[in-house]
Amino acid sequence: MKKMLFGTNGIRGVINVDLTPEFVTKIGMALGAYFSGKEILVGCDCRLGNYMIKSAVVSGLISSGCSVSDAELIPTPALQYAVKYYGFDGGVIITASHNPPEYNGIKVVGENGIELPREEEIKIEEIFFEEKFKLVEWRKLRGVSRAPNVIDPYIEAIEKHVDLEAIRKKKFRIVVDSGNGVSVLTVPKLLQNLGCEVSVINAELDGTFPSRPPEPKPENLNLLCEAVRSFKADFGVAFDGDGDRAIFVDEKGTVHWGDKSFALIEDWFLGKNKNKIVVTPVSSSTLIEDVAKAHGGKIYWTKVGSIVVSHTMVKIGALLGGEENGGVFYGLHQPVRDGAMTTALILEILTEENKSLSELISKLPEYYIVKASVPCPEEIKEEVLEELKKRLKAPRMETIDGIKLWFSDGRSILIRPSGTEPKYRLYAEARSEEEALKLVEEYSNLVRKIVKMKK
Ligand code: MG
Repeated sequence: MKKMLFGTNGIRGVINVDLTPEFVTKIGMALGAYFSGKEILVGCDCRLGNYMIKSAVVSGLISSGCSVSDAELIPTPALQYAVKYYGFDGGVIITASHNPPEYNGIKVVGENGIELPREEEIKIEEIFFEEKFKLVEWRKLRGVSRAPNVIDPYIEAIEKHVDLEAIRKKKFRIVVDSGNGVSVLTVPKLLQNLGCEVSVINAELDGTFPSRPPEPKPENLNLLCEAVRSFKADFGVAFDGDGDRAIFVDEKGTVHWGDKSFALIEDWFLGKNKNKIVVTPVSSSTLIEDVAKAHGGKIYWTKVGSIVVSHTMVKIGALLGGEENGGVFYGLHQPVRDGAMTTALILEILTEENKSLSELISKLPEYYIVKASVPCPEEIKEEVLEELKKRLKAPRMETIDGIKLWFSDGRSILIRPSGTEPKYRLYAEARSEEEALKLVEEYSNLVRKIVKMKK
């Protein structure tokens, strides 16, 4: 297997185990050779090891003649916006997004503010593994400067996409759960500008993430649900560690997974815009397609992963993308996941519709999702997939990433090899929980049988 550095979203690893100062300095040198003398904006989230890794990466960048602007602590979408806004040649953010606290990572952003596509990552990997570093002569070394103001232009940009005055009049009450992550640096200020009364929980920047895991999964949001009820808030919103994903809690204190909030935004967007293409990974709910169909829109399915969604949007000229995990890509702002922008859009929708979040969500078609996994050794994953492709039949199939089958009665199943673990993942969906369970069981058994056969 070809050696890789990058996973689905950048380079990730455990601090001082995978990501040692030596290793990340070499990555910095590879990035330096890749960007070769350009102007790079760097930043980090609040994870432990952030300054250790950032300093090492900066050292590598400078050694290749790059000049570096340091934005210090910053949410990923704000750094992405600033790269484009200020015309940097690229950006690097030190973050492990939603991973557990012991992890850190490196996301690399191109001049368009989007994380580099796979073909560019390969170039960096080649430089790294073949050690084609490029150390410049001492006279050509440049320095590190403080970045220009990155937060205010970013917040102002988001405000331009909503009806500021109308939202202000509503005087929303919002609870923000930044989960000890960097979204606290942008979201409360944005909401205050939008006239909201904001209560922030888990607000302290803390790389040990003492209050909840950095991933805003429903089981991690009990405190937010309680806070929404006791604050009598219009909704609560929780972010992942670097602030690109947002998960919402309605005024009754119920958490809704990201496909629901994405569907609301999709419904609102398609009702207003002539461009009716929506980009989403095959792992998304049929709900997203139902909403698109209701507006005469079209879904463009992609492989799982936010970078693919961003680049597909740009390539085909789509203005809206989304993922079930709470990532919404609002192309009129920037075609990347942006938790603060997502929150502003939800406020815009509540204002226009003049209804509560629970009411709006209750109008969406309801699907039940059941997930499962089947162990499968890495070396036979491909063979198993080929066998599945031969055997499986359904009225509609998509094989861009694993196999997704859609059946006529709203049932669907996605079977895909995990990118990180020796297993197959199955996502079944149906109009009732019982049917979804039945579906996942049936196909898990089939995958198990084929794995056994191929071993
Ligand atoms: Mg993230």
